[in-house]
Amino acid sequence: MHPETLLVSAARPAHEPDAPVNEPVHFSSTFIGWEPDTVPQRIYGRMSNPTWEGPERLLAALEQVPDPDAQPGLLFSSGMAALAAALHLAPAGGRVLLPRHAYQGLGSLAQQLQEQGRIQVEAVDVTDTAAVEQALQTPTALLWLESPTNPMLEIADLPALIEAAHRAGAIVVVDNTFATPLVQRPLTLGADVVVHSVTKYLAGHSDVVLGAALTADPELHVRLLAHRSLHGAIPGPMEAFLALRGMRTLALRTERSQATAAELARRAEAAAAEGRLPLAGVRYPGLPSHPQHALAAAQMTGGFGSVLTLEVAGGAEAADRVVQGLRLWVPATSLGGVESLAERRRRFAAEPDTVPDGLIRLSVGIEHVDDLWEDLEHALRAADAPGGTGR
Ligand SMILES: *Cc1c(COP(=O)(O)O)cnc(C)c1O
Repeated sequence: MHPETLLVSAARPAHEPDAPVNEPVHFSSTFIGWEPDTVPQRIYGRMSNPTWEGPERLLAALEQVPDPDAQPGLLFSSGMAALAAALHLAPAGGRVLLPRHAYQGLGSLAQQLQEQGRIQVEAVDVTDTAAVEQALQTPTALLWLESPTNPMLEIADLPALIEAAHRAGAIVVVDNTFATPLVQRPLTLGADVVVHSVTKYLAGHSDVVLGAALTADPELHVRLLAHRSLHGAIPGPMEAFLALRGMRTLALRTERSQATAAELARRAEAAAAEGRLPLAGVRYPGLPSHPQHALAAAQMTGGFGSVLTLEVAGGAEAADRVVQGLRLWVPATSLGGVESLAERRRRFAAEPDTVPDGLIRLSVGIEHVDDLWEDLEHALRAADAPGGTGR
């Protein structure tokens, strides 16, 4: 079945008279298991909950895990909980390579684990395949990849880097949050583990925090599952239900938000080129001007994602005025919801200074493209006007 159909039809009760159309939410901390000759599957609510099972199998099917019943996706209490479980696959003292522009929380966690002597961390430029291959000459336990990266939207050559890492004996983890399995499926490109912040596109409505980790490798699956159970990083049943409900419309939302992101990127680039708007740069993997557009087109088979960035001429202050001047775009962090969000990334001290001061990350939602464009245009013009303070 096509992913669009799977998203809607999977994880529902069997077609029987009077059956509900949706699985109920199971609020239960423990499960009955007294028959002497049966091996209980669920046991206790920290190990399992029937409400997780539908979305977990669906996620595994979307990421094309060969046997989603044997290795379902594993839902976690947050994206960070899933990332932490995957990072802990590195052995004690193991060397871990991370993208220099990786999700901030991952960088901070890796730094903390390094300070505790748990792992050794090194940042690499994942757009420079030769440099990563060079770094892999030193024994490495784990290569962490993100593509597109946050917030610079750099593209890593996933097949080449995964192959190089495997030659060097390293495990490869790919954070597929920005792309989603509709756009890019890293397990089919050889990755060992995929992690998601389900909070973003998968759940899609900015009303739930949740994560997931997936692998086709039986041994890694057991280790990730043990990590979740023993660290207690489990989702609540209500959150799992909300995530599944959000996923039902993922294909429709993605179709709309990607088309709008591409159109906004084109309009912004044209306006910048003609000097109509105070923009120093527009980044979107779908623009032919993106430095790795061809690579993105080759490995992102379902589109180019729904995040773009604008670099406001005039730096931090001008960019802050733009964000303050927006009426429709919501000035907030995060991404992947139905509502469009805008944020100047360097407002966070932890954001590396290789990210331009005036860079605004736009997470495009499902509103009408013309309303989004008008709001952006207006805020950019107002911020540029002499003495302009937004609207
Ligand atoms: C948000 C995000 C995370 C962290 O997920 P939470 O659900 O916020 O814990 C990890 N990776 C990426 C790429 C993200 O955008």
